Amino acid sequence: MLEVDRLRKSYGGRVVLSDLSLSVASHRCLALIGASGSGKSTLLRCINLLETVDDGTVRLEGRDITDPRVRPDEVRARVGIVFQAFNLFPHMSVLDNVTLAPRRVHGVPRPAAEEQALAMLDRVGLASRARARPDELSGGQQQRVAIARALVTNPVLMLFDEVTSALDPELVGEVLSLLAELKADGTTMVVATHEMGFARQVADEVAFLADGTVAEQGPPEQLFTDPVDPRTQRFLRRII
Ligand code: ATP
Ligand code: MG
Repeated sequence: MLEVDRLRKSYGGRVVLSDLSLSVASHRCLALIGASGSGKSTLLRCINLLETVDDGTVRLEGRDITDPRVRPDEVRARVGIVFQAFNLFPHMSVLDNVTLAPRRVHGVPRPAAEEQALAMLDRVGLASRARARPDELSGGQQQRVAIARALVTNPVLMLFDEVTSALDPELVGEVLSLLAELKADGTTMVVATHEMGFARQVADEVAFLADGTVAEQGPPEQLFTDPVDPRTQRFLRRII
């Protein structure tokens, strides 16, 4: 489904990703872990073409999307991304936030878009709040709306970037449970996270990023209990 091959990205001469390769099969969940600044967000932004890459390729369903002829909009319609900050439009209802992309980008007529949006809000447990404005919801609920908004266009791949980092601790669980449900339903996803419990329990594979590349990748039970790379060992000792 997703193949990243020898990706390089620098900012003003400073190398952030170098020779980074990884792949994610359909219906699998890959957790990205690593110290702050290790390049997790940059990698996700490259996969979604929010950044241009310096070298290497990103293949989505077999097609190299770093080819300059590929339109970023087309890729973003198939790859959903959710950030730490929910970025909902504050002046619009929950329902309008979720129907915006289908209506504006995909030309879905309002009644059909609202039907899809309500089904998606139901899936994230928020159908009853469709008419509310974002500021009337808790942080966890707002993040679930942001996830519904990303899912409503039926992306083939979902990227999550620290989606629980801005939440009060008591709200983290509801968002992580939603991610676990999406995974159980077969969503293909890449999740950058500091939540090691989630990485351990939900992800099929965990990639540890260090020095701009994947220092180590493996199934969670291996990576967390028996890491091979000394950098992974040091990182896990510090945080667990
Ligand atoms: P965190 O866990 O704190 O979210 P991260 O692993 O997501 O960190 P990135 O945000 O990808 O790390 O950042 C990787 C490196 O790239 C950092 O050193 C950062 O300062 C740098 N960087 C990221 N975006 C830019 C930018 N737009 N311009 C210049 N440098 C950047
Ligand atoms: Mg980040």
